[in-house]
Formats: sequence, structure tokens, C-alpha cells
Amino acid sequence: MRLSGTITCDIAVIGGGPAGMMAAGTAASRGANVVLIEKNRRTGKKLLLTGKGRCNITNADYDPQSFLSRFGKKGRYLHSALSSFGVEDAMNFFSERGLPLKIERGNRVFPESDSAADVARVLRDYLYEHGVRIMPGLDVRKINNDSRHIVSIIANSCMIEAGRYVLCTGGLSYPATGSTGAGLDFARDMGHTIVTPRPSLVPVILKEKWAGELEGLSIRNVSVSLYHDGKKTAEEFGEALFTSNGMSGPVIIDLSRNIGALLPGRVELAIDLKPALDHKALDQRVQRDFRENPNRLFKNSLGKLLPASLIPVIIGLSGIDPDKKVNIISGDERKRLVRLLKDLRVGVAGIEGFDKAIITAGGVSLDGIDMRAMRSRIIDNLYFAGEILDIDGPTGGYNLQICWSTGYCAGMSAAKASG
Ligand SMILES: Cc1cc2nc3c(=O)[nH]c(=O)nc-3n(C[C@H](O)[C@H](O)[C@H](O)COP(=O)(O)OP(=O)(O)OC[C@H]3O[C@@H](n4cnc5c(N)ncnc54)[C@H](O)[C@@H]3O)c2cc1C
Repeated sequence: MRLSGTITCDIAVIGGGPAGMMAAGTAASRGANVVLIEKNRRTGKKLLLTGKGRCNITNADYDPQSFLSRFGKKGRYLHSALSSFGVEDAMNFFSERGLPLKIERGNRVFPESDSAADVARVLRDYLYEHGVRIMPGLDVRKINNDSRHIVSIIANSCMIEAGRYVLCTGGLSYPATGSTGAGLDFARDMGHTIVTPRPSLVPVILKEKWAGELEGLSIRNVSVSLYHDGKKTAEEFGEALFTSNGMSGPVIIDLSRNIGALLPGRVELAIDLKPALDHKALDQRVQRDFRENPNRLFKNSLGKLLPASLIPVIIGLSGIDPDKKVNIISGDERKRLVRLLKDLRVGVAGIEGFDKAIITAGGVSLDGIDMRAMRSRIIDNLYFAGEILDIDGPTGGYNLQICWSTGYCAGMSAAKASG
């Protein structure tokens, strides 16, 4: 059956996120006739949320080995894409198009304007410049294929017949932005293996009920270690935040990458509230504070050490009588307090779902893809780019860089194959 509107083109890119826009613009810049299909009314809906609206475009870690090491064992699969379009290429791409960039702590690259909307604008201008036909409001529902070839796709009342197809529909995180995992179903139906998707870079849910009492409290310059079955497996330093049922913030979000795979095992976080001081130095500091005001009650004595809302929690956990004068607190009690400040243990009950996850772990297995061309090993005229792939990085601009690199490669190879 022929639908009312049939569109023909060299390349159809499905999904107008960062990966799809990069793929479409790159293919069109090489002379291909490109259609970009996006189910939302505008492209780049999720992109606008990135970096809390500031968009952490990439990470200025210019050494490819070091950059790829942040993706764990799967990093090696990205070598080719990153060599074709690396961190400096991405930075040049934006700055040469009139978007000055700045580098912040941890090599995080942002637009000087602190505006993700400016990043989206550059990408849209790139699409217009090369004549990409953007088709917003079209939801791809069906892919017609035989065992080695896509014949056409159907989106709303349109049939699109292209020589090549690039699938850039993202993962499952923040589904309200349009990333609902449709592309994973299409890929599975065409014979690709899908590594079970799970939320990553996501807040954690804690067992301790007292955590909820601290909702909104942000603790800076803390060190948090991750323990699995009593063994330390990771550590991060920076800022953490208490939520209504657990913890979030940069330190926790980065640790969460490892947590999903460890559950339902025994997973704990150990918070060092004073990482700049070792046990001995902190003990001396507490003794000094106690000496300065010997008649002060314990419950009123921690104001210089801790944020106000954390004090009752620490006092409760210390087991020391809150109404005891500090000059009669025993050495053992004081040491227990110091241990608590250096090693505040909380049990992880779980992680939040895809609706709160910055990224999806899992996706289309990389084994089914020729990663030099981002081309399917199963379907001749199918390419992949972006978060749909079974690869995920830490925070810091790594995930968007993968979109730029794989989007560029997919667009380039699809255009070359189109002749
Ligand atoms: C809150 C938040 C903050 C983030 N901040 C950063 C950051 O600062 N730096 C960083 O590196 N990464 C960040 N990320 C991760 C980054 O946003 C993703 O890695 C990136 O958006 C993935 O791009 P993509 O193009 O692969 O997929 P997506 O951005 O998910 O885009 C996929 C697109 O495909 C469309 N689509 C899906 N199915 C269909 C269909 N059937 N038909 C038509 N269209 C379809 C969707 O509507 C969507 O627009 C953040 C993520 C979140 C949620």
C-alpha cells in the first residue's frame, strides 16, 4: 500500500537529537539529499536540558586514550569514531560557527553564553545551511525491511523511501523529551542484539529514613566511596545533594554508573565529610573546638564543622547524649564521632528510574555494528549514532562527544555509500 505522502531521498535520519542533527548535517554537507525525521515539534528537545541548560558540549581531554578510558572496556570500540571527529573537531565545529567556548573545572567545555539553546541553534543552522529537509512532528512507527535491507519507513501518514537510514532515536532516559526506546525495538526486529537498557547517571535511593530529613541539603568538598559486599570499588570527590528519598548531585550521579550493575547486591556509600583532614587531624580539630567552649552541650557544639541540618542526624547517629557537656565527652565517644564524620555509611536500596536518568546504559550491541563506518553488520543500508548504542560515559561532556563523533561518522559513511 502506498500512503498519501511518499518522500524519497538519499538518506533518512530518524531522530533529531544531537547525534541525528550531526549525522544529517554531515551527510548533507557531502552532497547527499537528506531528510531528518523528528517526532517532536522541534529538534534537540533533550539537548536544551543538558548541563542544567548550559550544555556541557564535550570534555577537553585531548588525549584519545585518556578520553576513551572513561568509557571502560567498551571505549576501544569508539577509537575510530573519535579519530575521525574528536574533541578538538567538536570544539572547532561550534566555535567556527560563531559559538565561543570556555573550559571549566574538570575540562568541561561549555558555550561562553552558558546557553544550550545556542548549541541547538548552531546545529539547526548547520542543517539549514546544507539543505537538510527537517520533518518535525513525524513519529516513525514502522520499518519495512527484508533480511538485509530497509525498503521504507512509515511515519504518521508518510512513507519515506531512502537509499540509507541512520537510526539516532536515543535511549530511554527522560522519555518526556521523546526518547522512548522505539529505535531499540526497530533494531531488535531487524536482528540486532539489544543489551538490556538500564538507567545510568541517576540519583540513588537510600535505605536510611533520615536521609529524607535532609532533602535539599547540598554538601560540598566531600569524598564518597562506593562499597560492594564490603569491598571499595570506586571513589569520587565533589558535591552531593540529599533528596526526598536518597542522594543526588555530581558525585553520586557519577558513582551511580557503577551501582546499577551491582544491585541487588549489598551496596553502601561511605561519605567522608572532611576529606581534607585525616582521622588524627580531625580528632585534634574536634578537641580544639571542645576545649574552646568546654561547658557547651554536645548538641550545640558542631556548628563550625557541619551544616545546621546535618547536626541532629550526626548527633543521633553518634550515640552520644546530646545534652552532655563537651568537657565530659570521653575519648572513645569523641573518636566515634570522628569516625562518623570520616565514614558516614548509608545503604543503597536502589536507583531512580529512566525518568530521572541522564543516560541509558545498554542499547544496540556494538558487536553488530562496523564501528569504523557506524554501519549495521546485518542490514546493509542501516547506520547508528548516539545514545541508542550500547555505550555510556560519565558526566563531563563525554556523552555528547559520543553523539558528535558517531553522528559525524554515520553521516559521512552514509553519504559516501550514497555516492
Ligand atoms: C537532564 C540531562 C542533562 C544532560 N546533560 C548532559 C551534558 O551536559 N553533557 C553531556 O555530554 N550529556 C548530557 N546529557 C546526555 C545527552 O543529553 C545525551 O547523551 C544525548 O542527548 C543523546 O543524544 P541522541 O541524539 O543520541 O538522543 P536524544 O537526544 O535522546 O534524541 C533522540 C531523538 O529521537 C527522537 N525520536 C525517538 N524516537 C523517534 C521516532 N520513532 N520517530 C521520530 N523521532 C524519534 C526523539 O524525539 C529525540 O528527539 C544529559 C541528559 C539529560 C537527560
